[in-house]
Amino acid sequence: MKYYPVIGLEIHVELKTVSKMFCGCSTTFGSIPNTHCCPVCLGLPGSIPVTNQKAMELGILASLALEAKIEKVSRFDRKNYFYPDLPKAYQISQYDRPLARNGFLSIPTLEGDKIIKIDRCHLEEEAGKLTHTGGSIMEAAPSLVDYNRAGIPLMEIVTAPDLSSGEEAFLFLNELRLLLLYNQISDCRMEEGSLRCDANISMKEKNGLELGTKVEVKNLNSFRAVKLALDYEATRQTEVLKNGGEIIQETMHWDENKKQTMSLRGKEEASDYRYFPEPDLPPLYLEEIWIEEISKKLAEPPVKRRQRFKEEYGLEEYAIEVLVSHPGLGDFFEEAAKHYTDYQNLANWVNGEIQRLIKDHDLILQEMHSSGLVETLKLLDEGTVNRAVAKEILEEALLYQKKPREIVKSRNLGKITSEQTLYLLVEETLKENPKACESYLQGKEKALGFLIGKVMSMTKGRADPATVRKMVKDMLDQRSC
Ligand SMILES: [Zn+2]
Repeated sequence: MKYYPVIGLEIHVELKTVSKMFCGCSTTFGSIPNTHCCPVCLGLPGSIPVTNQKAMELGILASLALEAKIEKVSRFDRKNYFYPDLPKAYQISQYDRPLARNGFLSIPTLEGDKIIKIDRCHLEEEAGKLTHTGGSIMEAAPSLVDYNRAGIPLMEIVTAPDLSSGEEAFLFLNELRLLLLYNQISDCRMEEGSLRCDANISMKEKNGLELGTKVEVKNLNSFRAVKLALDYEATRQTEVLKNGGEIIQETMHWDENKKQTMSLRGKEEASDYRYFPEPDLPPLYLEEIWIEEISKKLAEPPVKRRQRFKEEYGLEEYAIEVLVSHPGLGDFFEEAAKHYTDYQNLANWVNGEIQRLIKDHDLILQEMHSSGLVETLKLLDEGTVNRAVAKEILEEALLYQKKPREIVKSRNLGKITSEQTLYLLVEETLKENPKACESYLQGKEKALGFLIGKVMSMTKGRADPATVRKMVKDMLDQRSC
């Protein structure tokens, strides 16, 4: 019997707002613990929550980007559970009246695009952060709590069980991340916890209609971990079933060091949370006109940008993928492409040199002007400078906001075209390297390369190598006769 994985994901995305979901506390990451707290996010008696409009806007924008239908009326509910990361002992979430339902996201698989349905998108608040001092939740002795995070706006996105491998889950998360970045909905930094993913996985017989028992996997701290954990679970569950065993419905914890899933606890049912409508917040009646207003802010989705970069600029697949994966780089490329039409060459420089400069000098892409690159490439194309010098100029132009042509002029970086200057340099080189000259005259071709290299390094690469080669060869050949 062959079994196939059936996978659904629950993704929590931190919305990019300056204040929390139901109070005015700051959402800044990395502050001193417990300094961004107030009676509302600490759940002190008598405090009243107020819904953050910006969070609502971002939630609606994300739902629209996922082609989901915004519900005209939605509502907040209390999800009750007792755990130290939750100061109120309940989380304000949405249960049976979520913000939006029935969306989809198309992912680029090797077999072509695959549609993954989105069941629901809802808003809720973040819990506090627990730090287990023993390293892992299993071994920790004391745990520390930081409520700075408690109350930060979150959106939960739940997919249908349409994914059928760890690889597809990986692709889905990647595509979702790009969509959210393009629309500036979230920073999507998994390492800071602003994007998190839990996965449900069960096994199904081929053509079988019945779904197997679901296992939930948590603590997936990277897209790679999601892929590894799901592949691991698929193999584990297949083994259990093949040996006549039974899958237990439970919550598993992914152990990053051991690279395996471990049983954490029995799976909770919705009824365990005793959901009930939040009495301190009115239901949300969303006006059509507001939703329409928000829909105007939708960015071009990555899937469309991919297609357009192929059709409009004829770029190679790899270049397209790099530009699409870094929204800022893609914008920079397009700005430059208005003034420079060797698109593939341009893309190579953007993906190579520009990325390197950003990394080496901590440059901010949005503050860089694409004309520095365009002018440099024109200098290179017209033969004023060579490639090595072009890189140098580009760096100076971008770091100090200078014009490439002026850099060439002021630093005298143009190619050496004067034959007389070159003649003197070649003559000096031959005089200083009699042994190499002798070797060449005795028939050792290698010596020629050595001498050319010497001349080139004296000119700091500013001479044309072909001209230098011809001159060195001519002068040596004259000597032999
Ligand atoms: Zn607060």
